[in-house]
Amino acid sequence: MSAYLDNAATTKPCENCIDAMNRAMMENYGNPSSLHGMGLKAQLAMDAARKELAGALGAQADEILFTSGATESNNMAILGTAALYGKRKRRIVTTTVEHACVKGACDALEAQGYEVIRIAPNADGNIDSAEFAAAVDENTCLVSMMLVNNETGHILPVKETFSMIKKRFPLVICHTDAVQGFLKVPFRVTDLQADLLTVSGHKVHAAKGIGALYHKKGVRLSPLLHGGEQEGGNRPGTESVPLIVGFGAAVKEMRNSMDIRRKHCTELRNLCIEKLQEIDGISIQSPSNGSPFILSISAEGLRSETLLHFLEEREIYVSSGSACSKGKQSGVLQQFGVPDRLADSTIRISFCAENTVEDVLLLAEQIAVAQHTLIHKR
Ligand code: PLP
Repeated sequence: MSAYLDNAATTKPCENCIDAMNRAMMENYGNPSSLHGMGLKAQLAMDAARKELAGALGAQADEILFTSGATESNNMAILGTAALYGKRKRRIVTTTVEHACVKGACDALEAQGYEVIRIAPNADGNIDSAEFAAAVDENTCLVSMMLVNNETGHILPVKETFSMIKKRFPLVICHTDAVQGFLKVPFRVTDLQADLLTVSGHKVHAAKGIGALYHKKGVRLSPLLHGGEQEGGNRPGTESVPLIVGFGAAVKEMRNSMDIRRKHCTELRNLCIEKLQEIDGISIQSPSNGSPFILSISAEGLRSETLLHFLEEREIYVSSGSACSKGKQSGVLQQFGVPDRLADSTIRISFCAENTVEDVLLLAEQIAVAQHTLIHKR
């Protein structure tokens, strides 16, 4: 028996996604820019996927731009906004717990002379909306706050913060990286008051290499690439129709099952917490009101990688911290108040609807075995 519990790193593409991608490759392989019928058919399939995604976000179809994934969407949002408004407005406000691709884009702008203010979580592990909003001034071009943290599942106060900012500075561009919240934590872009919002396909049972950037009507974008009219000239290059229609099919399926999946994963997460708390040396790092899909735990005395490989040998797959950091610590856990000693011993367990009670029981049983054999053998 095996258990894949690394769904925040990536998910298995669903059957509807694979079917849609297959059809696009076998039958609907025209170039959407071609003027003949094959091109039109591909264009229509892409339009349907765009509409699907827009519906799931509470947006209009022409507010959705397809990209190669969240890394590109986040870079386009941050570098693009700075390119458009950064000559006069040099301040960017973000948090200390963003994903590496948001952090990296902000760091790159800082190296170019932008002033980047990074707000840290308070002692309770929460970002304070008022503190964040207070860092915004008339010199600010952009704010970027993630919706759900990928390492711990903390839900950040995006709606409250953006609404405070918009009241004082309606022209500041508000961006959120919603990758771990999309189709997991209910939201509508309009409620969040986001101008730009990032999502990724492979976190919601579509394929890797496809993502999107929501851009509110009227909000300007600056392309990262040049030389074509695709995606309104904002993202030139022939669109990957198979990836896009697969994304649309996955979104449709996940949107219809969101409530059931949330309930199922909440039950699995609660059971997991209950079972792990029975084991000596285990502490829970995720907040109780966090995303139902992510659970961060520390196994005192065991290094994350040792535990990860112990579990892997038993066909149980989890992450040590964030998947993108390839075992290198991002420092985000410490920002949420996890001491260094425990951050070194933290693993991330992340669920999807296909996980079962048996998966959780197997995981808890094997973590107990690891604690007993690896620690007591010393
Ligand atoms: N943002 C968050 C919060 C993520 O969890 C990830 C992936 O781990 C990314 C961005 C990057 O996504 P992609 O793999 O689509 O570039």
